[in-house]
Amino acid sequence: MADKSTQWTSSPVDALRAAASPRVEDIDFTVTPGFSGSKSDGTALLAERGEVLAALQEKLYAHGRTGGNRSVLLVLQGMDTAGKGGMVKHVIGMVDPQGVDLASFGVPTQEEKQHHYLWRIRKALPRAGRIGVFDRSHYEDVLVVAVHDLVPRQVWEKRFDEINAFERELVDEGTVVVKVALFVSPEQQKKRLQERLDRPDKHWKYNPGDVTERGFLPQYRAAYQRVLDRTDVDHAPWFVVPADRKWYSRLAVTEILIDALEKLDLQWPTADFDVEHEKKRLAES
Ligand code: AMP
Ligand code: MG
Repeated sequence: MADKSTQWTSSPVDALRAAASPRVEDIDFTVTPGFSGSKSDGTALLAERGEVLAALQEKLYAHGRTGGNRSVLLVLQGMDTAGKGGMVKHVIGMVDPQGVDLASFGVPTQEEKQHHYLWRIRKALPRAGRIGVFDRSHYEDVLVVAVHDLVPRQVWEKRFDEINAFERELVDEGTVVVKVALFVSPEQQKKRLQERLDRPDKHWKYNPGDVTERGFLPQYRAAYQRVLDRTDVDHAPWFVVPADRKWYSRLAVTEILIDALEKLDLQWPTADFDVEHEKKRLAES
Protein backbone atom coordinates (compact mmCIF):
# COMPACT_ATOMS: atom_id res chain seq x y z
CA MET A 1 0.00 0.00 0.00
CA ALA A 2 1.35 3.41 -0.94
CA ASP A 3 2.22 5.70 1.95
CA LYS A 4 -0.62 8.16 1.71
CA SER A 5 1.24 10.83 3.66
CA THR A 6 3.61 11.21 0.70
CA GLN A 7 0.64 12.32 -1.38
CA TRP A 8 1.25 15.72 0.16
CA THR A 9 3.71 17.06 -2.38
CA SER A 10 4.09 20.18 -0.31
CA SER A 11 2.96 20.90 3.22
CA PRO A 12 -0.56 22.38 3.30
CA VAL A 13 0.78 24.88 5.80
CA ASP A 14 3.00 26.27 3.04
CA ALA A 15 0.69 25.58 0.09
CA LEU A 16 -2.35 27.27 1.66
CA ARG A 17 -0.80 30.19 3.51
CA ALA A 18 -2.62 33.31 2.37
CA ALA A 19 0.61 35.03 1.34
CA ALA A 20 1.30 32.16 -1.10
CA SER A 21 -2.29 31.90 -2.35
CA PRO A 22 -3.99 33.50 -5.33
CA ARG A 23 -5.99 36.70 -4.99
CA VAL A 24 -9.51 35.96 -3.80
CA GLU A 25 -11.02 36.73 -7.23
CA ASP A 26 -8.65 34.20 -8.82
CA ILE A 27 -9.20 31.31 -6.43
CA ASP A 28 -9.86 27.96 -8.08
CA PHE A 29 -12.36 26.35 -5.72
CA THR A 30 -11.92 22.80 -6.97
CA VAL A 31 -8.14 22.36 -6.67
CA THR A 32 -6.39 20.43 -3.90
CA PRO A 33 -3.21 22.48 -3.30
CA GLY A 34 -0.26 20.35 -2.22
CA PHE A 35 -2.19 17.07 -2.40
CA SER A 36 -1.76 14.69 -5.32
CA GLY A 37 -4.05 11.89 -4.09
CA SER A 38 -7.65 11.11 -4.99
CA LYS A 39 -10.80 11.56 -2.92
CA SER A 40 -10.53 8.01 -1.56
CA ASP A 41 -6.86 8.56 -0.69
CA GLY A 42 -7.77 11.79 1.04
CA THR A 43 -10.64 10.23 2.97
CA ALA A 44 -8.47 7.33 4.15
CA LEU A 45 -5.68 9.70 5.14
CA LEU A 46 -8.12 11.89 7.09
CA ALA A 47 -9.04 8.95 9.33
CA GLU A 48 -5.36 8.14 9.91
CA ARG A 49 -4.43 11.72 10.66
CA GLY A 50 -7.43 12.06 12.93
CA GLU A 51 -5.71 9.66 15.31
CA VAL A 52 -2.58 11.79 15.31
CA LEU A 53 -4.70 14.88 15.94
CA ALA A 54 -6.52 13.16 18.82
CA ALA A 55 -3.26 12.10 20.49
CA LEU A 56 -1.84 15.63 20.23
CA GLN A 57 -5.05 17.08 21.61
CA GLU A 58 -4.96 14.70 24.57
CA LYS A 59 -1.43 15.87 25.32
CA LEU A 60 -2.60 19.50 25.20
CA TYR A 61 -5.46 18.66 27.56
CA ALA A 62 -3.09 16.88 29.97
CA HIS A 63 -0.84 19.94 29.84
CA GLY A 64 -3.78 22.18 30.78
CA ARG A 65 -4.89 19.89 33.57
CA THR A 66 -1.43 20.04 35.11
CA GLY A 67 -1.14 23.81 35.17
CA GLY A 68 0.04 24.58 31.63
CA ASN A 69 -1.23 27.74 29.91
CA ARG A 70 -1.07 26.81 26.22
CA SER A 71 -4.09 26.55 23.94
CA VAL A 72 -4.96 26.60 20.25
CA LEU A 73 -7.56 28.79 18.56
CA LEU A 74 -8.91 27.80 15.16
CA VAL A 75 -10.86 30.59 13.49
CA LEU A 76 -13.21 29.41 10.74
CA GLN A 77 -14.56 31.90 8.26
CA GLY A 78 -16.47 31.37 5.04
CA MET A 79 -19.81 32.14 3.48
CA ASP A 80 -22.82 29.95 4.11
CA THR A 81 -22.38 26.39 2.82
CA ALA A 82 -18.58 26.78 2.73
CA GLY A 83 -18.41 23.92 5.22
CA LYS A 84 -17.72 25.50 8.61
CA GLY A 85 -20.24 23.29 10.39
CA GLY A 86 -18.94 20.19 8.61
CA MET A 87 -15.42 21.10 9.71
CA VAL A 88 -16.55 21.11 13.32
CA LYS A 89 -18.39 17.81 12.92
CA HIS A 90 -15.83 15.90 10.86
CA VAL A 91 -12.47 17.36 11.93
CA ILE A 92 -13.01 18.59 15.46
CA GLY A 93 -15.31 15.58 15.88
CA MET A 94 -12.24 13.34 15.70
CA VAL A 95 -10.93 14.58 19.05
CA ASP A 96 -12.23 14.26 22.61
CA PRO A 97 -15.00 16.86 23.05
CA GLN A 98 -13.86 17.48 26.64
CA GLY A 99 -10.86 19.27 25.23
CA VAL A 100 -12.74 21.54 22.84
CA ASP A 101 -14.16 25.02 23.49
CA LEU A 102 -16.51 25.70 20.60
CA ALA A 103 -18.18 29.04 19.93
CA SER A 104 -20.23 30.29 17.02
CA PHE A 105 -21.02 33.90 16.34
CA GLY A 106 -24.19 35.11 14.70
CA VAL A 107 -25.87 38.48 14.39
CA PRO A 108 -25.02 40.25 17.66
CA THR A 109 -27.73 40.13 20.32
CA GLN A 110 -29.09 43.29 21.93
CA GLU A 111 -26.68 42.80 24.80
CA GLU A 112 -23.70 42.18 22.52
CA LYS A 113 -24.53 45.29 20.50
CA GLN A 114 -24.04 47.39 23.59
CA HIS A 115 -20.42 46.28 23.90
CA HIS A 116 -17.23 46.55 21.87
CA TYR A 117 -17.21 43.91 19.10
CA LEU A 118 -14.38 42.00 20.82
CA TRP A 119 -16.38 41.66 24.05
CA ARG A 120 -18.21 38.50 23.04
CA ILE A 121 -15.03 37.15 21.45
CA ARG A 122 -12.96 37.53 24.63
CA LYS A 123 -15.62 35.71 26.61
CA ALA A 124 -15.41 32.72 24.26
CA LEU A 125 -11.63 32.27 24.10
CA PRO A 126 -10.31 28.75 24.74
CA ARG A 127 -9.30 27.82 28.25
CA ALA A 128 -5.79 26.54 28.91
CA GLY A 129 -5.24 23.11 27.43
CA ARG A 130 -8.17 23.41 25.02
CA ILE A 131 -8.61 23.68 21.30
CA GLY A 132 -10.92 26.63 20.75
CA VAL A 133 -12.95 26.73 17.56
CA PHE A 134 -14.69 29.85 16.31
CA ASP A 135 -17.43 29.20 13.77
CA ARG A 136 -17.37 32.78 12.48
CA SER A 137 -15.52 35.26 14.61
CA HIS A 138 -14.44 38.87 15.11
CA TYR A 139 -13.75 38.88 11.37
CA GLU A 140 -17.50 39.24 10.77
CA ASP A 141 -16.97 42.75 12.09
CA VAL A 142 -14.85 43.57 9.04
CA LEU A 143 -16.70 41.29 6.57
CA VAL A 144 -20.50 41.38 6.76
CA VAL A 145 -20.21 44.70 8.57
CA ALA A 146 -18.20 46.25 5.72
CA VAL A 147 -20.29 44.67 2.96
CA HIS A 148 -23.52 46.05 4.43
CA ASP A 149 -22.16 49.32 5.83
CA LEU A 150 -23.32 48.35 9.31
CA VAL A 151 -20.83 50.86 10.68
CA PRO A 152 -19.06 53.66 8.78
CA ARG A 153 -15.93 52.79 6.85
CA GLN A 154 -13.68 54.83 9.14
CA VAL A 155 -14.87 52.67 12.03
CA TRP A 156 -14.24 49.24 10.48
CA GLU A 157 -11.01 50.43 8.82
CA LYS A 158 -9.46 50.83 12.27
CA ARG A 159 -10.38 47.31 13.24
CA PHE A 160 -7.65 45.56 11.26
CA ASP A 161 -4.88 47.02 13.43
CA GLU A 162 -6.96 46.39 16.49
CA ILE A 163 -7.49 42.75 15.52
CA ASN A 164 -3.77 42.25 14.87
CA ALA A 165 -2.99 43.67 18.30
CA PHE A 166 -5.70 41.55 19.93
CA GLU A 167 -4.37 38.36 18.35
CA ARG A 168 -0.82 39.34 19.33
CA GLU A 169 -2.04 39.52 22.90
CA LEU A 170 -3.57 36.03 22.64
CA VAL A 171 -0.33 34.62 21.27
CA ASP A 172 1.67 36.28 24.05
CA GLU A 173 -0.64 34.64 26.57
CA GLY A 174 0.12 31.17 25.15
CA THR A 175 -2.50 30.61 22.44
CA VAL A 176 -1.53 29.42 18.98
CA VAL A 177 -3.86 31.20 16.57
CA VAL A 178 -4.63 29.73 13.13
CA LYS A 179 -7.22 31.17 10.79
CA VAL A 180 -8.92 29.34 7.96
CA ALA A 181 -10.93 30.98 5.20
CA LEU A 182 -13.05 28.46 3.30
CA PHE A 183 -13.89 29.45 -0.25
CA VAL A 184 -16.77 27.74 -2.02
CA SER A 185 -17.62 28.49 -5.66
CA PRO A 186 -20.92 30.25 -6.41
CA GLU A 187 -22.05 27.17 -8.38
CA GLN A 188 -21.27 24.77 -5.55
CA GLN A 189 -22.91 27.11 -3.07
CA LYS A 190 -26.04 27.09 -5.23
CA LYS A 191 -26.08 23.28 -5.22
CA ARG A 192 -25.68 23.14 -1.46
CA LEU A 193 -28.45 25.69 -0.91
CA GLN A 194 -30.64 23.76 -3.35
CA GLU A 195 -30.09 20.63 -1.28
CA ARG A 196 -31.09 22.50 1.85
CA LEU A 197 -34.34 23.44 0.10
CA ASP A 198 -34.98 19.98 -1.34
CA ARG A 199 -34.46 18.07 1.90
CA PRO A 200 -36.88 18.64 4.77
CA ASP A 201 -34.16 17.49 7.18
CA LYS A 202 -32.01 20.41 5.93
CA HIS A 203 -34.63 23.16 5.99
CA TRP A 204 -33.47 24.23 9.44
CA LYS A 205 -30.12 25.17 7.91
CA TYR A 206 -31.66 27.26 5.16
CA ASN A 207 -31.87 30.96 5.66
CA PRO A 208 -33.55 33.11 2.96
CA GLY A 209 -30.86 35.70 3.69
CA ASP A 210 -28.24 33.34 2.25
CA VAL A 211 -29.67 33.87 -1.24
CA THR A 212 -29.66 37.63 -0.67
CA GLU A 213 -25.97 37.44 0.24
CA ARG A 214 -25.24 35.77 -3.11
CA GLY A 215 -26.03 39.14 -4.65
CA PHE A 216 -23.09 40.61 -2.75
CA LEU A 217 -20.38 38.18 -3.84
CA PRO A 218 -18.07 40.81 -5.36
CA GLN A 219 -18.30 42.86 -2.17
CA TYR A 220 -17.56 39.78 -0.07
CA ARG A 221 -14.56 38.95 -2.25
CA ALA A 222 -13.21 42.44 -1.75
CA ALA A 223 -13.87 42.25 1.98
CA TYR A 224 -12.08 38.88 2.27
CA GLN A 225 -9.18 40.26 0.25
CA ARG A 226 -8.83 43.16 2.69
CA VAL A 227 -8.88 40.75 5.61
CA LEU A 228 -6.13 38.62 4.07
CA ASP A 229 -4.06 41.65 3.08
CA ARG A 230 -4.29 43.27 6.50
CA THR A 231 -4.37 40.37 8.97
CA ASP A 232 -2.31 37.50 7.52
CA VAL A 233 0.51 37.90 10.01
CA ASP A 234 3.12 35.38 11.11
CA HIS A 235 1.83 35.33 14.67
CA ALA A 236 -1.71 34.54 13.46
CA PRO A 237 -1.60 33.24 9.87
CA TRP A 238 -4.49 32.89 7.45
CA PHE A 239 -4.90 29.79 5.33
CA VAL A 240 -6.92 29.99 2.14
CA VAL A 241 -8.73 26.69 1.64
CA PRO A 242 -10.64 25.81 -1.54
CA ALA A 243 -13.85 24.23 -0.28
CA ASP A 244 -15.72 22.72 -3.21
CA ARG A 245 -14.22 19.35 -2.32
CA LYS A 246 -15.11 18.78 1.28
CA TRP A 247 -12.75 15.83 1.65
CA TYR A 248 -9.86 18.12 0.74
CA SER A 249 -10.80 21.07 2.95
CA ARG A 250 -11.26 18.74 5.93
CA LEU A 251 -7.95 17.00 5.34
CA ALA A 252 -6.17 20.33 4.90
CA VAL A 253 -7.59 21.78 8.13
CA THR A 254 -6.65 18.59 9.98
CA GLU A 255 -3.05 19.07 8.84
CA ILE A 256 -3.08 22.75 9.79
CA LEU A 257 -4.27 21.82 13.28
CA ILE A 258 -1.72 19.02 13.63
CA ASP A 259 1.00 21.47 12.66
CA ALA A 260 -0.23 24.02 15.23
CA LEU A 261 -0.28 21.38 17.98
CA GLU A 262 3.13 20.02 17.04
CA LYS A 263 4.59 23.51 17.25
CA LEU A 264 3.58 23.60 20.92
CA ASP A 265 6.13 20.81 21.42
CA LEU A 266 4.43 19.56 24.58
CA GLN A 267 5.55 16.63 26.68
CA TRP A 268 3.34 14.28 28.67
CA PRO A 269 3.22 15.56 32.25
CA THR A 270 5.49 13.60 34.57
CA ALA A 271 3.98 11.87 37.60
CA ASP A 272 4.03 13.83 40.84
CA PHE A 273 4.02 10.52 42.75
CA ASP A 274 6.45 7.61 42.99
CA VAL A 275 5.34 5.30 40.18
CA GLU A 276 7.21 2.21 41.42
CA HIS A 277 5.92 2.69 44.92
CA GLU A 278 2.36 3.05 43.65
CA LYS A 279 2.69 -0.12 41.53
CA LYS A 280 3.75 -1.99 44.59
CA ARG A 281 0.91 -0.58 46.68
CA LEU A 282 -1.59 -1.47 43.98
CA ALA A 283 -0.29 -5.02 43.67
CA GLU A 284 -0.59 -5.46 47.40
CA SER A 285 -4.05 -3.96 47.64
P1 AMP B 1 -24.86 31.14 10.55
O1 AMP B 1 -23.36 31.03 10.60
O2 AMP B 1 -25.46 30.44 9.36
O3 AMP B 1 -25.50 30.75 11.84
O4 AMP B 1 -25.22 32.68 10.31
C1 AMP B 1 -24.80 33.66 11.19
C2 AMP B 1 -25.10 35.01 10.57
O5 AMP B 1 -24.71 36.01 11.50
C3 AMP B 1 -24.33 35.25 9.29
O6 AMP B 1 -25.19 35.79 8.34
C4 AMP B 1 -23.29 36.28 9.73
O7 AMP B 1 -22.88 37.14 8.70
C5 AMP B 1 -24.04 37.01 10.81
N1 AMP B 1 -23.11 37.72 11.70
C6 AMP B 1 -22.12 37.19 12.45
N2 AMP B 1 -21.44 38.15 13.11
C7 AMP B 1 -22.02 39.32 12.76
C8 AMP B 1 -21.76 40.67 13.11
N3 AMP B 1 -20.77 41.01 13.94
N4 AMP B 1 -22.56 41.62 12.58
C9 AMP B 1 -23.57 41.29 11.75
N5 AMP B 1 -23.86 40.03 11.38
C10 AMP B 1 -23.09 39.06 11.88
MG1 MG C 1 -26.25 29.82 7.82
